[in-house]
Amino acid sequence: MTTHIRRQTPYVFLGQTTSLCDECLTLVPAKILSEDGRVYYLKRCRTHGPQRVLVSTDAAYWRLCHDYLKPGDRPLAEIERMMDTLVASEGEPDLL
Ligand SMILES: [Zn+2]
Repeated sequence: MTTHIRRQTPYVFLGQTTSLCDECLTLVPAKILSEDGRVYYLKRCRTHGPQRVLVSTDAAYWRLCHDYLKPGDRPLAEIERMMDTLVASEGEPDLL
């Protein structure tokens, strides 16, 4: 009888996101991996191939920050209209 033992990967898959290729700055899919207490993005650009980027040296802290984030939301339509009116009359605000 042959026993099939599933091999363990050396990393933990934390999720996926979208990132930029280091070479051409195109949006590319990225896997978020934890390995040896560090967090990496494993990106794959169609032109430039796979890239592995260190994003945190502390996986526990990365998780803590990630859990703290709330989903994005949109400004209220009223505020958006006020800002449009302000920009129309005053122009774009100066950047400091
Ligand atoms: Zn690229």
